[in-house]
Amino acid sequence: MLRMLHNPLYVGLIRLPAFEGRPEKYVKALHEAIIPENIFWTVHELIKGRHGQRAQPKADFPLRGILRCDCRAHMTAGYSKGKKKYYMYYQCTKEKGRNHRGEMLHELIEKVLQSLSFSEDQIGKISAYAKEELSKVTTYRINLLNARYTEFNQVSEKIQGLERKMLNDEIEASTYKVWFARLNAERGAFENDIIRLKKDKQTIFDRLDEAIPYLCNLRNLYLTLTLDGQQMLLKKVFELGIKYDGHTFRTPMLNPALADNYLNTKEKGLLIVEQPDDFLRKNLKCTVSGSWFEPLSQFIEKLLLVNSFKSIC
Ligand SMILES: [Zn+2]
Repeated sequence: MLRMLHNPLYVGLIRLPAFEGRPEKYVKALHEAIIPENIFWTVHELIKGRHGQRAQPKADFPLRGILRCDCRAHMTAGYSKGKKKYYMYYQCTKEKGRNHRGEMLHELIEKVLQSLSFSEDQIGKISAYAKEELSKVTTYRINLLNARYTEFNQVSEKIQGLERKMLNDEIEASTYKVWFARLNAERGAFENDIIRLKKDKQTIFDRLDEAIPYLCNLRNLYLTLTLDGQQMLLKKVFELGIKYDGHTFRTPMLNPALADNYLNTKEKGLLIVEQPDDFLRKNLKCTVSGSWFEPLSQFIEKLLLVNSFKSIC
């Protein structure tokens, strides 16, 4: 019975075993819990106690270093001992008594990530735009390559003409040297351009398909990452950090790639961007061409990088 009560799957948790010096941890699974989570933790400590280990549950604090109090001081993280178990908490480093339950803040940040994720509809628009952009880039590259081939051939012909004149004694050796050096340098530059253009340069939108599942569910991505990966992701979403005022997360700036989903996230009471007018004016919606393209491609690049910080289940 104890074993069953200690099966993380029944409480809707997934156990991520210790890996590369990081302690094991438990993350929320998507399925519904069968057993209340507090029972699981009670049993967890009982079993750990039996093995003679410390009863303190081990968990990570992904918001450490990112979260500030609304007095602007950083919040530290730790455990406090309750009657039956340890609780995670974040605490203001300046004001005594300003602390918030870790589990609650962790759940809240997951909701924020879920809400900022893209819908299928938005992804459809992005894909269409990316395809169009890619074909433009491809056409441009082909045209440029053809132009460089023509220029390369023209310079090669000039060099041949120069050699002919030299062999027919029509020009001095010193004149030949000067002109050859000049033309040869030009030919080299065209050749380099051709090599560069022929290399099929991948734009990040070639990898859009790979990134779509993460864009559609930032929460799921976040839950599968190691602590380092989670912090990288949060620092990308909230480049200037987040504050918690006791009710809602606030941020001076949200990554502009996620601007489209800010208003509905705000309506749900999950997040407040502190200069909303400025933020929304600069980052207009998908319907306005171009403005979101650059931040989004940068964001996708970062997501693919962050994804290499997966914890191994
Ligand atoms: Zn404070």
